[in-house]
Amino acid sequence: MTLPDFAIEAAGLVKTYPATKTTPVVEALRGIDLAVPRGAIFGLLGPNGAGKSTFINILAGLTRKTAGQVSIWGLDIDERPRDARAAIGVVGQEIAMDVFFTPRESLEVQAGLYGVPRRERRTDVLLGALGLSDKADAYVRQLSGGMKRRLMVAKAMVHNPPVLILDEPTAGVDVELRRQLWNYVVSLNALGVTVVLTTHYLEEAEQLCDTIAIVNKGSVVACEPTRQLLRRLDSRTLVVTPEAPLAAVPDLAPFEARQRPGGDLAVTFKTAQAGVEQVIAAVRAAGVGIKDLRTEDPDLEDVFVSLTYAAADASVIAI
Ligand code: ADP
Repeated sequence: MTLPDFAIEAAGLVKTYPATKTTPVVEALRGIDLAVPRGAIFGLLGPNGAGKSTFINILAGLTRKTAGQVSIWGLDIDERPRDARAAIGVVGQEIAMDVFFTPRESLEVQAGLYGVPRRERRTDVLLGALGLSDKADAYVRQLSGGMKRRLMVAKAMVHNPPVLILDEPTAGVDVELRRQLWNYVVSLNALGVTVVLTTHYLEEAEQLCDTIAIVNKGSVVACEPTRQLLRRLDSRTLVVTPEAPLAAVPDLAPFEARQRPGGDLAVTFKTAQAGVEQVIAAVRAAGVGIKDLRTEDPDLEDVFVSLTYAAADASVIAI
């Protein structure tokens, strides 16, 4: 079989949750076009409520799409639902597992569910890869939260799928475990597994992913190689506490100046265009005395909003 160019392809994907007695209609996905290249570590980034989990749940066969097409490993989820689902392993957000099994049993049961013949099972390899060998025969209820999470990753991989999907893999997870999880993800990727992870941390996506798609309010607002995207996001803010209250916000063009509620002056600048020195000089030249100052990295919510506006302005969204 020739390998597909794209591990996942979505075209015009729409999901509308119908209204209930207590909730209005929600347009969770408003026509998503997305192609995840085979072999990528692909980040799906977006604020809470953007539609990331809805997208993942559609791929996993847990949620029905309203409209559009999706294929996984070249298999259309409507035409070949079973084969498409066999091509992905999904690690959801919730820790859901049978507490009466040991990790070894849990993996064996999962392999059984996927119809993996005994001689092809990789239980010990997976336990070892996820640092669970010495807990292989402990009850799941005795495992720490981090171990449970790693076991979920192992479970997602029992049928050796070419695509692994991790929904918020490091939410509530400590730094050490995060590093372990990432090492495993990178090693899987080196073996040829395409990885898709959702996160609302830019930093996480930045360190791990070669391509990042940003989703906001059910639409893809950017999808490009990580480096290219970071260049676009490369802005900082200099926050100045003025010596005396400002009568008006000075015009500091080409920098963007705004006054904060407490009276501080926030000046945003592109790091490719100017350094902090130049921004301070512009503030002084505008007659603002500087009592105190600090710099801030861009706030991701701001970035999403600005990208969303940029996308709305442009006639073509970069995909
Ligand atoms: P994310 O994973 O990016 O945080 P979600 O896909 O969970 O976003 O949610 C997208 C939108 O769909 C949100 O407005 C959320 O409230 C809504 N939503 C998610 N699941 C359901 C559901 N089962 N029923 C109704 N609305 C839902």
